[in-house]
Amino acid sequence: MTQVYLKKKVSRRIENGHPWVFANEVEKIDGPVAGGDIIDLVTHDGKFIGRGYANPKSQILIRLLTRKKNEQITDDFFLQKINAAWKYRQKLGYTENCRLVFGEADFLPALIIDKFNDYFVLQTLSLGMDLWKSAIVNALETIFQPKGIYERNDVPVRELEGLTQVKGFLSAPFDTQVLIHENGLKFMVDVENGQKTGYFLDQQDNRRAIRHIVKDADVLGAFTYTGTFEIHAAHYGAKSVLGLDISASAVEQANRNAALNGFGDKCVFQAVNAFDVLKQWSKEGRQYDVVMLDPPAFTKSRENIMKAVTGYKEINLRGMKLVRPGGFLVTTSCTNLIQPELFLEIIEIAAKDAKRILRQVVYQTQASDHPIIWGQENTHYLKFLIVQVL
Ligand code: SAH
Repeated sequence: MTQVYLKKKVSRRIENGHPWVFANEVEKIDGPVAGGDIIDLVTHDGKFIGRGYANPKSQILIRLLTRKKNEQITDDFFLQKINAAWKYRQKLGYTENCRLVFGEADFLPALIIDKFNDYFVLQTLSLGMDLWKSAIVNALETIFQPKGIYERNDVPVRELEGLTQVKGFLSAPFDTQVLIHENGLKFMVDVENGQKTGYFLDQQDNRRAIRHIVKDADVLGAFTYTGTFEIHAAHYGAKSVLGLDISASAVEQANRNAALNGFGDKCVFQAVNAFDVLKQWSKEGRQYDVVMLDPPAFTKSRENIMKAVTGYKEINLRGMKLVRPGGFLVTTSCTNLIQPELFLEIIEIAAKDAKRILRQVVYQTQASDHPIIWGQENTHYLKFLIVQVL
């Protein structure tokens, strides 16, 4: 097997368990390396560190799959790993829906698998992982006997790996509108054409966190997607609910979901640009008891961090102004590069500008089926905050 020698000074990241190795961290390569090959990573003096897949076309030359010298990377390896990921979720109480595999946090770099009831959606985001797709599908079949498996590899990040974007069935075709249950509510998930894998499982605990503050409230939710937070608000006793999303198809699905739960009348959804509308309505002096903001990631690259900061500041400032004194702002950020401290700082600055005092109610992160590995900042991405706006 080809051996890849690290430079003498091994980065602390790799020492501490991070699975990525960049090309400039490598001293020499002993043997051929083609895209997707399994290689051994060793120290400058030849001591085994780990085994993983390589891609000379990618900035991330190697992603480690194991640090055990006698563990071989075979179909059975993937079966064992996916089984372990499922056992972990079951231990935490997940039954019907969960992110079954969260990439690096499940020691399967660049692999995402979401479980929606009896259906599975998967993404293989690197060449090395993509080559194991059939082993992964077989593992899902062995463990779950699923009703369907769908591939949502229609994501630009694959191009950094020299892969094309694809989507389609990895099982016999099935109806791609899948019914799931969450917190006693029903939602239709469009696994074929929905955003990302079709549904944002990472917010499932956070949706429950709004239950007391929305009772008898007039609620405004921006970036609603398929209406999940808003339908929860109706379920928890809101007086009125208005949800906004720029995508007409998301609004259509939100209406369908509201009707499915008997809230077709209480929940109203509009296809608008939330930035424009929040600005206009705050100028007009509209007031709500609860304003919820769940925008998409504003940047994936460091160059655009300042733009993202400005975006968060803007919507949170507008959002706060729309909250009646004593009401609540529910605000989130899923931008990886905006670390928690920075997010809270942005909210603080927005509050100063809006001349409002904030009282913190809840501050938490993604649900535990998206585990955070300490020392791997990119696994800790979701910030979820509820404040009372005084
Ligand atoms: N709250 C949702 C997830 C929201 S994802 C849930 O829990 O399921 C972010 C949403 O913001 C997407 O649906 C996207 O269509 C929408 N969006 C992006 N830019 C927008 C804009 N300028 N105005 C309104 N919605 C926007």
